[in-house]
Amino acid sequence: MSEAHTSKPKVPPTGTLEGFQETIEQLYGDRDRLRGVDGTFVWFVEEVGELARALKGSDPRNLGEEFADVLAWLTTLASLAGIRMEDAASRYGAGCPRCGETPCACPSKRTQRTS
Ligand SMILES: [Zn+2]
Repeated sequence: MSEAHTSKPKVPPTGTLEGFQETIEQLYGDRDRLRGVDGTFVWFVEEVGELARALKGSDPRNLGEEFADVLAWLTTLASLAGIRMEDAASRYGAGCPRCGETPCACPSKRTQRTS
């Protein structure tokens, strides 16, 4: 097989957020731009609902797929909004964004994550 005959662009490996975002862009970018942010957000919320149901279920394979789908739709939304997921993730790269500590040392009211 010759590289010259392949039309697929090279993408970074999906093991990185950058690579995953590029892969999703190549898979669905054209369709996503046609649908737009509002329509894509509706799909994202739908997938979050499916993840909520999977978390209450007992099918680990389905659960993994729902996590993948939510990540894919979140990543699509980021692309449409001009956000690089790698940059977004870096918010947490130097400790908790609020207190700067690892692990987070914010008062327990904040860390209960009930809000
Ligand atoms: Zn904190």
